[in-house]
Amino acid sequence: MTDQPAADLEIEARVAALEAAVARLVDIVEPSLAASHLAAPIAFPWQKEVAQHEFVARFFALLDLGESLIKYSAALALAALCHAQPASEQAATEFLRQPAPLGGWITSLRNTLNDPAVNTWPIEILRGIFRRPNTKPTDTARYLFDEFVRIRNRERGHGSQQPDGYYEDLYRNNYMSVHDCVRASTHVRLPLVYLHAVDHREGRYAYKVTLLMGVSPATLSEPIHTSIRVPVRSTCLWDRGAFLLPLNDFLVHQYCRTCYMEHSFFSERITAEQVAFHSYIGNHRQTVDRARE
Ligand SMILES: [Zn+2]
Repeated sequence: MTDQPAADLEIEARVAALEAAVARLVDIVEPSLAASHLAAPIAFPWQKEVAQHEFVARFFALLDLGESLIKYSAALALAALCHAQPASEQAATEFLRQPAPLGGWITSLRNTLNDPAVNTWPIEILRGIFRRPNTKPTDTARYLFDEFVRIRNRERGHGSQQPDGYYEDLYRNNYMSVHDCVRASTHVRLPLVYLHAVDHREGRYAYKVTLLMGVSPATLSEPIHTSIRVPVRSTCLWDRGAFLLPLNDFLVHQYCRTCYMEHSFFSERITAEQVAFHSYIGNHRQTVDRARE
């Protein structure tokens, strides 16, 4: 009887070691799951979760990852909506008039996926991830929009100390589902770029861009040639051809006044004068005047 806890601990340690070994193997066998293949807003929380040791830290990093995935998916869908129907930009940002709960992002994402008038790339990719052909939600949508949000709202809500093992159970019960959602989300592997300069000649634009994939952005040696005009300093999704989808204020890559580095932010609130941004990288916040150009 007395040596039972020691045996349990040994089994736990062996299970943890096995899990770590499997995670390393997945990175080798399935390189798409390596952080370097994920858009920066997903790669950072992904990396953060992998790097934590305490279950409480891992669990809250997992919440950051799930939230980032929801907001990133909605940002792409809303950008496609604004591109397809420029007049709807005001309506698309309406849910951010007040600091938006996660549910506001989900409702906007669902409504945009259900709007047949929105056909700008990559909306069909997003539809395939979140809706079955009969328009019922996929497993990814069901987990992410319902179960994950319920757990997240409950756990972010209570600030009190939880007993030992509480976060370990929560983490163990959810990390595979969240990882499956990231794995199913092929849109997070589409190239995200930041336009830092442009050459313009006879209706053709050559954008110099920084590729925002993984945790270390890299300047592309070749410019992107296109006839599409996008303001410099925009953050865009790129189809690897001649199409750039600006993500407007929904997602920006910009200088952070807290950590003195450039990184991505989601908008948290948009008023006529200002945009309040929040980043899952270090939980940093800043407000920027909209007439900043
Ligand atoms: Zn920062």
